[in-house]
Amino acid sequence: MIVLKSAREIALMRRGGHILADVIDHLRETVKPGLSTLEIDEDVEAFINARGAQPAFKGYRGFPATVCVSINDEVVHGIPSAHRRVKEGDIVGLDLGCIVEGYYADCAVTLALGDIPPRVRELLDATRESLERAVGECVPGRRLSDVSHAVQSHVEARGFSVVRAFVGHGIGRALHEEPQVPNFGDPGRGPLLQPGMVLAIEPMVTMGSWEVKILDDGWTAVTRDGSLAAHFEHTIAVMEHGPEVLTRK
Ligand code: MG
Repeated sequence: MIVLKSAREIALMRRGGHILADVIDHLRETVKPGLSTLEIDEDVEAFINARGAQPAFKGYRGFPATVCVSINDEVVHGIPSAHRRVKEGDIVGLDLGCIVEGYYADCAVTLALGDIPPRVRELLDATRESLERAVGECVPGRRLSDVSHAVQSHVEARGFSVVRAFVGHGIGRALHEEPQVPNFGDPGRGPLLQPGMVLAIEPMVTMGSWEVKILDDGWTAVTRDGSLAAHFEHTIAVMEHGPEVLTRK
């Protein structure tokens, strides 16, 4: 069942979303070559706590950290470590959520550290653009798969692939609610979008094949072919007048 949110509930999610937007701005300034992924994680945890919110991922199904840090061929769910340092030329996926008064917000960004090849820049651009196109579909009267199709069509037209194994999701009093939001599919299918629906849309895009595998740590998803992957995510409320990106200020 898709739970519609009241204006009050959306306001709480907006508060959390704006905290996450501030975290992302902070990370753009602070994530530099040489930093360990654990240092990034501890910094974000302190930031979220200082704003009176709680990290959403820490302890979720046993995940040990506040941020998923996924580097290069890692698609999602990388575990921060004191022994892993980001370096010049890496693309670093940072996925994080927070809870405000019981309501969740969720977002992700992929940052490039220093110079990256033009085609890798295109990967990041295409992924971010596909998310923007998906946001544009979050209008009452559209159908859920219009969102999915917007991602897939944009990504594939640029010669990249959409990961199938992970999907976006409804969000609210739980981190993952119905409906699932795949990043692929034909348009015009699934539930009608209505005011009060809140979706976390999160395209995961690779330079090669869309197939992924999970590493022995039980969490980290990497591309099977070792190709680079990018991930962007926003939490979006469907409003009467159209989409509101709650994780953007
Ligand atoms: Mg998510």
